[in-house]
Amino acid sequence: MIVYNKEKVKNIQTTLYDELYVISDFDGTLTKGADNSSWASIFKNPNVSDEFVQECVKTFNYYHKFEIDNDISTKEKIELMKKWYQKNIKILKQFNITRDTIIESAKYLSFRYGTKDFLKDMYENRIPVVIVSAGVGDIIEQVLINEKSNYDNIYIYSNFFKYENNKIIGIRDNNFIHPLNKNEIIISNDLKSIILNRKKILLLGNNLYDSGMANSENNIFRVGFLDKNVEERIEEYKAFYDIVCTGNSSFFDLKELLNKK
Ligand SMILES: [Mg+2]
Repeated sequence: MIVYNKEKVKNIQTTLYDELYVISDFDGTLTKGADNSSWASIFKNPNVSDEFVQECVKTFNYYHKFEIDNDISTKEKIELMKKWYQKNIKILKQFNITRDTIIESAKYLSFRYGTKDFLKDMYENRIPVVIVSAGVGDIIEQVLINEKSNYDNIYIYSNFFKYENNKIIGIRDNNFIHPLNKNEIIISNDLKSIILNRKKILLLGNNLYDSGMANSENNIFRVGFLDKNVEERIEEYKAFYDIVCTGNSSFFDLKELLNKK
């Protein structure tokens, strides 16, 4: 099911391709399964030990409750998110997780139905796609390669690992992208010049924080995918998103809506 703001949909239907660019979340937005993520795909890799998985799950259970707790201030939450991500790196180092394992983990993630065609459409129409993800950049890149969708109009802002002798030693740039700072990414000058004259944004996300990935006076069309606890969350999503896609809606469903006269 797709619920939407009629005015906004009409507005995007009349938007020209050269006015537009896309800002998209990755896990659970371009990929399927609300519970799958690029981080979690590492646990699914048979090369990792049970002890490693247990340690990660313990850490997830400890920190995730803060991420979704509305009684904690944003400032406090950001500090907790930073600690969570530092802890994740510590565990990856402690268990000697290799680059090969990371790259292989990408095969445990798959695209949402229609993502491949959506990205192809964007590529053929030269619409820049900026992926902003609190997940793992190396895995996102590999999923795009596996799906033969690693087009040159796609720009990934995510957490890329730093390796030494094939082993993870940290994170590139020492700057974590976590769920609460996705609106603060620093885009490259190259990308800045590419999107300079594009004043409209198609924003795609699957949690409420994602809706804030773009915050400008630009025209932003927000599409939210809500695949879990739909009944209790739909009103909230409708407040944050112009179009809410539920029940594992595909990109074909979205395209049909946007092409509807
Ligand atoms: Mg997501």
